[in-house]
Amino acid sequence: MSGSRDSASDPAMRRPDFAAWMGQGNSITQQFLSFGNRPGLIALSGGLPAAELYPVDDVQAATERALATHGSAALSYGAVEGFPELRETIARRLSTERLKLTPENVLITTGSLQAVELIGKALIDAGDAILAEYPTYLGALDAWLPRQPRYAELAYRERWPEAKFAYVVPNFSNPTGAVLARAEREALLARSEESGIWLVEDDPYGELRYDGAVQPSLLEMSARPESTVYDGPVVHLGTLSKTIAPGLRVGWAVGAPEMIRALAQAKQGSDLSTSTFCQAVSLELIRADADRRHVPTLVDAYRERRDALCAAAQEHLSDLFDWKVPEGGMFVWMTARRPGLDTNALLSFALEEGVSFVPGSVFDPSGQASPSLRLNFTANPPERLQEGVRRLSRAVRAFASQ
Ligand code: PMP
Repeated sequence: MSGSRDSASDPAMRRPDFAAWMGQGNSITQQFLSFGNRPGLIALSGGLPAAELYPVDDVQAATERALATHGSAALSYGAVEGFPELRETIARRLSTERLKLTPENVLITTGSLQAVELIGKALIDAGDAILAEYPTYLGALDAWLPRQPRYAELAYRERWPEAKFAYVVPNFSNPTGAVLARAEREALLARSEESGIWLVEDDPYGELRYDGAVQPSLLEMSARPESTVYDGPVVHLGTLSKTIAPGLRVGWAVGAPEMIRALAQAKQGSDLSTSTFCQAVSLELIRADADRRHVPTLVDAYRERRDALCAAAQEHLSDLFDWKVPEGGMFVWMTARRPGLDTNALLSFALEEGVSFVPGSVFDPSGQASPSLRLNFTANPPERLQEGVRRLSRAVRAFASQ
C-alpha cells in the first residue's frame, strides 16, 4: 500500500511499501469477525459455531490420553504430511467399497483453510485461472490473492476454459447455503475429467445437515473401484472446526498421492507441520468418535436456530428479500427484491441499528456490488436471532426511505 511520502526525515516514512496484493481484493474477513466485539451488537456476520456447545470435556479427556499415549511425539516437530496414525485413521474413515484410501492419500493441515491456501501455492503462477462458483468462499479468495490468479465462473454444462483447478463447496455453501444436486456433481466430474482440471471439494459443513438427503461426495463419485489407491482429480478438504472446535486448527486434504506430495512440499515452507500436540488430541478425539457423537447435538441446536431465523425473516423481511431455507450449514443467503439495492451501503444502517451481516460483494471474485447478504444462524441463540432480524428489517426500511 503506497502512502504519500512527504517527510524523508521521518524513519516511518522511509520504510518499504507492503506488497502490491495487500492493497487489493476484498480482504476484510477480520473486519467482519471484529464486529462481534461491539457492545450490544447482534453479529449475524460471523461464520462461527456456537461456542457454548464446544465439547470441552471430550477435548480435555482426549488431551490427557494424547499426552499419556503419545508423550514427547505430541510435543516434537513432526512429519510434514502429518501424524502417521492420524493420516491412517482419516484414510480408513473415509474409505468405502468404491473409494480406497491409504495414508498416502492424506495430508493433515492446519485447518482446512491451509489446504485451500496450499492448493494455490502448489498450482498457481500469476495469471493462471481458477474456476469458482459466484459467489464463493471469502477465505479462499483471501488465501489465493497473493498468487494473483484470474477467475472464471464455474460452468456445469459447457466445456471448461483452461484453468488449474475448479473450487466448489458442494454442501451448504459458504455463503449461499446451497447444495449441489447429484446431476450437478456428475456434470462437474465429467467437465473435470474431459479437461484434466483438478476439482477441489471443500466440505467443512457436510455433516451439519438438518433435513434432506445426503449426497455422495465428489471424491467418492470420482473413485475407480478397480484402483487400490485413489488417483482421481478430486482434492477433498475436511476439518474438525465445525464438528469439534475451530481452535484445534486441524483439517485434512485427501487426493491423489501426486497431489498430496505437492501439497506437502508447499506446506514445508509454511509451517513445517501442523501442531503435533493438536494432531495427537485430534487423533484421540477421532478414535473415540467424539466428533461424530457430537454431531446430533449440533444438528438439533442449529436446526432450531435456522428455523428461528427463517421464521423471523418470514415475518419481518419477506416483502424485501427472497431466500431459500438451507438444508444445513451455517448461513442464509438473502437477495433483495429491489434490483440494485447495494448491501455494502446498507451495512452502515444495520450497524447503526445494532446488527451486522456480510454484504454479498465480498464473496464475488471481482468484488462487484451485490443485492445479496449473508446471515449466520449458528452463533446466536434463537431470541437473539429474532431480535437481529427485527433490527435488520428496521435498517433496510430506513435505508430504503433515505
Ligand atoms: N472452507 C469453507 C467453505 C469455510 O466456510 C471455512 C470456515 N469458515 C473453511 C474452509 C476453513 O475452516 P478451517 O480452516 O477452520 O477448517
